[in-house]
Amino acid sequence: MTQTTASGSRLEQTRRVGEFPGPRSREIAERRSAAVAAGVASSVPVYAADADGGVVVDVDGNSFVDLGSGIAVTSVGASDPAVAKAVAEAAAHFTHTCFMVTPYEGYVKVAERLNELTPGDHAKKTVLFNSGAEAVENAVKIARAATGRNAVVVFDHAYHGRTNLTMALTAKAMPYKHGFGPFAPEVYRVPMSYPFREENPDITGAEAAKRAITMIEKQVGADQVAAILIEPIQGEGGFIVPAEGFLPALSEWATANGVVFIADEVQAGFCRTGEWFSVDHEGVVPDLVTTAKGIAGGMPLSAVTGRAELLDAVHGGGLGGTYGGNPVACAAALAAIETMDQQDLRGRARRIEEIAREVLEPLVGQGVVGEMRGRGAMLALELVRPGTREPNPEAAKAIAAACLQEGVLILTCGTYGNVIRLLPPLVIGEELLRDALGVLKEAIAAQ
Ligand SMILES: *Cc1c(COP(=O)(O)O)cnc(C)c1O
Repeated sequence: MTQTTASGSRLEQTRRVGEFPGPRSREIAERRSAAVAAGVASSVPVYAADADGGVVVDVDGNSFVDLGSGIAVTSVGASDPAVAKAVAEAAAHFTHTCFMVTPYEGYVKVAERLNELTPGDHAKKTVLFNSGAEAVENAVKIARAATGRNAVVVFDHAYHGRTNLTMALTAKAMPYKHGFGPFAPEVYRVPMSYPFREENPDITGAEAAKRAITMIEKQVGADQVAAILIEPIQGEGGFIVPAEGFLPALSEWATANGVVFIADEVQAGFCRTGEWFSVDHEGVVPDLVTTAKGIAGGMPLSAVTGRAELLDAVHGGGLGGTYGGNPVACAAALAAIETMDQQDLRGRARRIEEIAREVLEPLVGQGVVGEMRGRGAMLALELVRPGTREPNPEAAKAIAAACLQEGVLILTCGTYGNVIRLLPPLVIGEELLRDALGVLKEAIAAQ
């Protein structure tokens, strides 16, 4: 039996940092620089020993408040008892058989759950993979096979992964694409709806969609387009929430033109925004949905879910992979989804938004805070030079560093590197969250 604290957590839910990196972290860092490729960077200089609820504890005993969830992954916490138990039980039986060799029920159960939870009541099917990038690549493969067309339309500020095709689909050169070309062809980028940075601040979502659609029609040709691929709330690009009406208009145009509408819910899905999926806020029903990050409590798993006739348009053996839908990861996903349901993590995400807006919204329009945006527990502050809309990446960096010094782990993002993003585990306690937001508020005020 694991010992729990008064709050029911295994680890004390407190912020407690001495001088860091401590001796153990420094020692590991030295070995790392000799052994690990320099191309993989880390946000913080400490090494994790334990994590639970809203805290990450390092190898020297420092306890950080986690406002990043390992990039929107550990929504149920990094050691949810239900996930840990499901993983241990599954691993004690079999860690792998390969679904393409000897299939197992866990995979089928995850597919059934995803078919139920994703938007729309049409007949759906699912195929499982390991990473978000792999899900996105396969969604494109499915759309191409089903339509017999090649072109894929993506958006400014988009992020879809680091493999060759998904680099092509991603907008930002540094660090994701720089020096890694040539990239996959037949990818066309059109303007996003980005209310804070529109030249015409009154442009509606429908008008922004029209701008994108005209570009598609004139520069690509509607009948050449296999898919429109979009993050309903953009993640790495800066937590950009398009103007209301943008997503529905694109989705309607796609349907009218035989184009597959793919919602990349890898970051925004699974209760993060206060709904199961971020398209749910506008009632949009995508043809295909890609999921990963929050799906399995940190175990590597991803999925493409969508219209049965699209998934079934691919020839037998055309989809798969050695590890896709690993049985231990499937067990973790079923447990994580159960936790989301039982603990009403959609409601928790909405409560996190209420608290964060209460603390941070008064700062908007003052000093470096240009805008606060996002939904649920996917919230961001876009930082500017005071009195302008000019991006202020230095402030974002300084604020994240100041928070870290005080024991609060905060991530940045954005095409211009000027966005502070909040992605706490949805199970974080209110007191701990308020404590961390207080630290953030002070760090912003010090700018
Ligand atoms: C993180 C992310 C991906 C890529 O997922 P990986 O698991 O890192 O391959 C794709 N799309 C979106 C929207 C993401 O946030």
